[in-house]
Formats: sequence, C-alpha cells, structure tokens
Amino acid sequence: MFKALIVDKDDTGKTHAAVQDITLDRLPAGDVTVAVDYSTVNYKDGLCIGPGGGLVRHYPHIPGIDFAGTVEASDDPRYAPGDKVVLTGWRVGEAHWGGYAQKARVKADWLVPLPDGLTTRAAMAVGTAGFTAMLAVMALEDHGIKSGPVLVTGAAGGVGSVATAILAHLGYQVAAVTGRPETADYLTSLGATQIVAREDLAETVKRPLEGETWGGCVDAVGGAMLARVLGQMEYGASVAAVGLAGGANLPATVIPFLLRGVNLLGIDSVMQPYDNRLRAWARIARDLPMDKLDAMIQPATLAELPQLGADILAGRVKGRVVVDVN
Ligand code: NDP
Repeated sequence: MFKALIVDKDDTGKTHAAVQDITLDRLPAGDVTVAVDYSTVNYKDGLCIGPGGGLVRHYPHIPGIDFAGTVEASDDPRYAPGDKVVLTGWRVGEAHWGGYAQKARVKADWLVPLPDGLTTRAAMAVGTAGFTAMLAVMALEDHGIKSGPVLVTGAAGGVGSVATAILAHLGYQVAAVTGRPETADYLTSLGATQIVAREDLAETVKRPLEGETWGGCVDAVGGAMLARVLGQMEYGASVAAVGLAGGANLPATVIPFLLRGVNLLGIDSVMQPYDNRLRAWARIARDLPMDKLDAMIQPATLAELPQLGADILAGRVKGRVVVDVN
C-alpha cells in the first residue's frame, strides 16, 4: 500500500480530491517504477487537482505533472534500482498518473537522471516551472539578449521567480513585473533590479510601438500584457512566451515584428527533446544559485494539495511549493 492524492468525479461532474491508500497493482503500465521523494505545484496541477481544465482524461486520477525520486524497479537498461531520477512533462499528471503519490510508474523515455549537484528536493524546487524558465533563458540567449533590462512577467510566480534568479545570476539587469507589491523585497532578493507594477502594463495596445525599453523578456502572463510588451522591445530583441496566467488571447499588431525585428519565441516544456532537457538541467545546476532557490521554497504535504491547487489558480502562490509526499 502507498499514499496518493486521488481525484475523482461524482455523478454531477464535480471533482473531489483526497489522500487515499492504494495498492501497487493499480499503477498504470510503464517500464520504470519510482519511489517518489518530492513533487511540486504548477498552474496545470491546480487545474488537474480541481476542475480538470480539459487536461485529465480519466477518473479516478493522480495529478502531479512532475516528480523526483529513486528507481525501485526497471525493465529498461538505462535505469537500475537506486538511480535518482526527475520527470517533467509528457502529459504525466494529466493523461497519465503523476507525482502526487509515494510511487509512480512511467516510461523510461520520460525520465532524466537527477543532474549532478542537485538533490531530489532541489530538483522539485526547480520543477517544471524552473525547467521552463531555463528553456526560456536559453532561447533568449540563442537569439541574443540586447542591452536593456530583461523583463520577467508574473515574476513572483514559479516560472518568474526562477527566471529572475537565473537572469540576475548571469549578470543581466532584471525588471520584474508583479501584481503583488508586497513581493517586491522577495523579488529584489532574487536579483531583480527594478519592480514594474502589473497595472503599468495592463492597458491594451493603443500605440503599436512605444519606447524601446527591454533587452529581452520571459513572459509567463500572455494576453494583453504580452501584446503591450511586444511594442516596448528593443530593436531585434526577443520575447520567450511561456505562459497564459493573464489570458490566452494576443491582442497585438504585427508592427513590432516588421519595424523592430522583434522575435516571439514559443517555449514548450512538455514535449521537449531529451538532449535539450539534459542541457537545460545542466544549466540549472550551474546557473541557479541554491541559496536563491531555497528562498523560493514553500514546503507542503499531500494533504495540503487541494488548497494549494486552488491557491495557484487564484495567483496566491509565491515562488515554488515543494511537496514531500512521504
Ligand atoms: P504561477 O501561478 O506560480 O505564476 C503565475 C504568475 O502570473 C502569478 O504568480 C502572478 O504573478 C501572475 N499573474 C497571475 N494572474 C495574472 C493576471 N491575471 N494578469 C497578470 N499576471 C498574472 O504559475 P507558474 O509560474 O507555474 O506558471 C506560469 C504560466 O506558465 C502558467 O500559465 C503556466 O501554465 C505556464 N507554464 C507553461 C509551461 C510551458 O511548457 N510552456 C510550463 C510551465 C508553466 P505576480 O503575482 O508576480 O503578478
């Protein structure tokens, strides 16, 4: 028997989440069984713990889109019992049972070895949010970061916090956009050099081009804010579009692309190829200061997940929640 957060749907279509004891034979098919140490809470987890958001295919369901732990049994030559592993993406925790359990069974192809220099706890403090932040920073570097400050939107959230810490560590000036002024000290401690109020970027585009202000941008918000930011980018600068915390629409014009050569770079963490996953995790181990990561951590247990799921959907989570499933 092991403990898991099980989400089930009743006859009225309403979902209910509770910690239950279940048996190993209920785990889905897969070639590697992992004893999970830690998981975390991402925006998508909030949907999968709660209403489903069109992501969960079948109930009962175990959410948790990422986890880190120790291989317990493996039918794949790449992994042996005792190996430390990390999983993010591949629709685990959505279409496949995920990390909110003491055991998980997955495909070997979905795993990466725990990077040197990280514990399983640190790996989940990074989690999908931090991994995606690193992918975004790598994409900006590949296209060239210009001279102005790098803007990070949704800065006090998971993606934004890690992006802020990595960019500051790499020596960039970081302008952190937040709707929570009380997080200013936190963001400054991560290395932000400027705090931008969410309202300053909330208005929809009136002029397609504004002053050339930002040398790059990691955008976790999307919507009207992303549209506005596009018109404020320096000539030739890039925006890495990561999230939609503020909306999926993009009420923009093409003028910043045509007159300023601005690049809009799409970032997907879920289907990311294996080699680039290794590259991103190695960069995280190198370029994310562990003391900054510690400052982002809010510890949690399986039983606290229903509340935390609601909190992240309401934009009330700061930094990174690390769930000790044991
Ligand atoms: P969080 O909830 O931790 O962070 C989102 C942040 O966005 C909030 O903390 C808040 O920051 C800001 N925000 C929330 N609502 C609004 C709003 N209405 N308008 C403007 N800003 C808002 O989520 P994550 O960091 O985990 O994820 C961020 C986004 O990235 C999500 O949309 C998520 O789905 C997406 N994502 C995408 C991935 C990919 O592969 N592309 C992978 C991981 C995440 P503040 O309080 O500072 O204003």
